[in-house]
Amino acid sequence: MFDLAPIKAIPISTVAKDLGFNLSRSGGGRCRLPGHDDATPSFAVRVATNRFVCFACNRRGSVIDLVKMMHGIDFVDACRWLEARYLGGTATTGRAKSGRIRRVMQQPNLEDAAVIGAQTQADPDVFGWILERSPLRPDGAQYLASRGFGRATLAHFRVGQIGNGQDLLHVATAKWSRQRLVACGLLKEARWGDEFVFPSNYLLFPFLVDGNVIYLQARRPDGKRIKRWYCPHSLPPPLFNADALSIAQRTITLCEGVTDVLSAFELDMDAVGLLGASSRLDDQTIAQFRGRNLSVLGDADKAGRGFAKRMSSLFAPHGLTIVRKRLPAGCNDLNDYLIAIRKA
Ligand SMILES: [Zn+2]
Repeated sequence: MFDLAPIKAIPISTVAKDLGFNLSRSGGGRCRLPGHDDATPSFAVRVATNRFVCFACNRRGSVIDLVKMMHGIDFVDACRWLEARYLGGTATTGRAKSGRIRRVMQQPNLEDAAVIGAQTQADPDVFGWILERSPLRPDGAQYLASRGFGRATLAHFRVGQIGNGQDLLHVATAKWSRQRLVACGLLKEARWGDEFVFPSNYLLFPFLVDGNVIYLQARRPDGKRIKRWYCPHSLPPPLFNADALSIAQRTITLCEGVTDVLSAFELDMDAVGLLGASSRLDDQTIAQFRGRNLSVLGDADKAGRGFAKRMSSLFAPHGLTIVRKRLPAGCNDLNDYLIAIRKA
């Protein structure tokens, strides 16, 4: 039961900043919504309406929508999170404020219910089918080799590559229906019509659990940093390389990105990737980390330090301590280190 009016009135600039957005005084900044690697500031909050908009990934909404997207949680949990954090957790008291009759909601209003109904879901059948039709090509393999990744690693992680994105979308729509592609976030309604989330020629990294493809991330097939990666629309990334937790390894390294985990594998380390600004782990996954030595290896910059801090605060409530490992001087990330070792 929530009083929605005060929740929706929590200043969105404050919430966005607390969720890791770096906003200018006018409320603009880079988008940090899951699945959007924003190279130029495309995100803005509007004080007048207390809403946000991203002009690049076309997502917009209220302060509740922002929390839902960033944390990958449903409407009720987002309200709970906001209320506990900014309103002192008044949800259970039912006390009317300043004599006004409290609007107690048993269920979300229609507008919000529509958003819940449209919630994106992983679709392993579709994801696996896309991966099967997207084999790694010589140019992609060559680029990955230049990053220090051998054939065995690429085969182990089943790295693929999108061919012609439009052709693939055409065949996929015929096979699975437009509706099903929208439901799993592969098809996005953009301003100029439907859009396939993965561009042509991008490398494709599957998130595998027992052989099932539960998520896909596409990455640039070259070293350029603009539009570096794409994910299914509105679908927060799960743990990458979760299968590493099914073997009885004593030591697990927490990494921030897919290429870090592949680099770790090349270096004979067992690693999992926690992508996105606010990775959430369920209790079952947390339990799989117990009894192991956990270390975090973030980039050697401010963002990397932020990642190490987030990991500590994510695991500390479960009684798990994380040791922060450092990279040798001159290496900004694990892949730099791998390349340096291969050269030596
Ligand atoms: Zn965006």
